[in-house]
Amino acid sequence: MTHRQWTLLAIVLLAVAWPLLSPFSVTLLNYIGLYAMVALGLVMLTGVGGITSFGQAAFVGLGAYATAWICTSPVAAQALSWVHADVLPWLGLVLGLLVTGVIAWVLGAVTLPLSGHFLALGTLAWGLSLYYVFGNLEGLGGFTGISGIQALSIAGYELTSPRLFGIIIWAVLLLGILAMNNLLDSREGRAIRALKSGRVMAESMGVDTSRQRMKLFLLAALLAAVSGWLYAHLQRFVNPTPFSLNISIEYLFMAVVGGSGHLWGAVLGATLITLLKEQLQDLLPKLLGTSGNFEVIVFGILMLLILQRAADGLWPLIAARAKRWVKPASTATASAHVTQAVLARRKLPPAGQVVLDATQVTKRFAGLVANDAVDLNVKAGEVHALIGPNGAGKSTFFNMISGVDDPTSGSVTLMGQSMAGKPSRAFAGLGMGRTFQHVRLLGQRSVLENVALGAHLRGKKGWIAAMLRRDRHEEAALLAEARKQIERCGLMSYIDTPAASLPLGQQRVVEIARALAAQPTILLLDEPAAGLRHLEKQALTELLTQLRGEGMALLVVEHDMEFVMNLADRITVLEFGKVIAIGNPAEVQANPRVMEAYLGVEDTEGAPA
Ligand code: ADP
Ligand code: MG
Repeated sequence: MTHRQWTLLAIVLLAVAWPLLSPFSVTLLNYIGLYAMVALGLVMLTGVGGITSFGQAAFVGLGAYATAWICTSPVAAQALSWVHADVLPWLGLVLGLLVTGVIAWVLGAVTLPLSGHFLALGTLAWGLSLYYVFGNLEGLGGFTGISGIQALSIAGYELTSPRLFGIIIWAVLLLGILAMNNLLDSREGRAIRALKSGRVMAESMGVDTSRQRMKLFLLAALLAAVSGWLYAHLQRFVNPTPFSLNISIEYLFMAVVGGSGHLWGAVLGATLITLLKEQLQDLLPKLLGTSGNFEVIVFGILMLLILQRAADGLWPLIAARAKRWVKPASTATASAHVTQAVLARRKLPPAGQVVLDATQVTKRFAGLVANDAVDLNVKAGEVHALIGPNGAGKSTFFNMISGVDDPTSGSVTLMGQSMAGKPSRAFAGLGMGRTFQHVRLLGQRSVLENVALGAHLRGKKGWIAAMLRRDRHEEAALLAEARKQIERCGLMSYIDTPAASLPLGQQRVVEIARALAAQPTILLLDEPAAGLRHLEKQALTELLTQLRGEGMALLVVEHDMEFVMNLADRITVLEFGKVIAIGNPAEVQANPRVMEAYLGVEDTEGAPA
């Protein structure tokens, strides 16, 4: 059976068992469903996107308090006297989503630009503050909370029984998982996954990383708010306790223990932590003789153990065990002959036209001048090689002309446009493709997905379209384009292989295929031949020669002189940040300055023959 069939079977079993379960089990499952919804948001935010939040319970609180307030406050009653009482909870949902959306947007704008542990500390700070806001606002009942919240009514039917209400909870959760699953399996999903492995790479694929991070943050907050809304109408009472920092940390436990990068890990984590908490709250006071929140200590130890033994959580372990009962869905056969016509196509400039022009580019790092008034241009239909000893400033120059970093002075023009101060995604938008000296791939994802990420800017379907599967036509075209480039680069036999399990040389080729999927006008390659064997180098030379023939502009940094001399039309030589020679291979090889520069260097790894 496939993964999908197993999932459907589990859902059918749950549905069949639902009327037969004891009231206690139903209650437990209801809470598991509510917690899993929050953990699902955290799996997306933390596990997939790499953004840790210690404040998620506060968003649950916003969702719960918004509806509690609308349903009980005399102020709201007066303002909404014309509204039927059954509609109030739905207004509560709208209000909760709005308030959460606005507050999360403001908090995100302040916190998300921070990096690493500063970001985590930031979420801790607002998580705590919101908790005290709930407790101290008169209108929200202080620390006593708000009681008497009405039950949810659907089509005039009151859902007072937990068994009925649980159907709503689990339906919402399962729809949420389906939507997240669809989102991850799309163009935008690849962009989200790319966030974690470094923003430089994602930006150079044209992904607006700040925007994606904000959307992810809002998504997780809104999922939490929906959980809070359901919680308020299940419990019919709210107080600040379930929205405290403690609980935020429990949510994070759930996401991490279950499997921080796996959607079903959210359900697994919520189940484990809820059951364990249940047991521990019984057991620990008896063992210790006093009552208190001792389960938090056990969770902490458990989390440490799991992070040490299985950093990706328990879901991948279970999935690996269950592998022989699950038929893998093959990506390689599907959508093999889809028209790529839906994808944006770029008009290539005529051969000989200057595509990239860098003039007097200077970069200073404190006292060091890494690039000193470098002039270099690349034309359509030529291979321009940039060589020079280690530390000459080649990689720095790459960063200057690709928007990763700004020159201290000098200017960079791409396709006739001045690029001063623009981010790398603007370079990508104008047709710059690149590879990295230190390979930057999504190691756990297949070669196909990695290459498809390169085509990001050629599609335009957004998050909502992806969640609703309204992007299938475009997605098939993107994958077909990726497949075409994979084939062209000779990687067909690896198409479904996780990128990290390829030899390093082949990973470099995957990066080239990824850049080609963008249909670039100019391609920057940082040491593409490093780690390739002789035959693979020949294949690479053939591929690059072919690309040049199609009118692409290529700028290549390379140490392998034989490779460079065979391929390049023009060569620029850098030494200590300065251009010391420029010309065709024969001219450069005969240049005494170049001979000296290379022979003067102890490490003669790249001396011209
Ligand atoms: P290459 O790629 O030609 O080997 P690089 O461009 O990596 O050379 O480095 C050129 C010089 O600039 C080196 O001396 C390096 O130490 C220095 N450098 C590079 N990046 C930085 C940085 N971010 N901060 C300070 N110095 C740097
Ligand atoms: Mg370098």
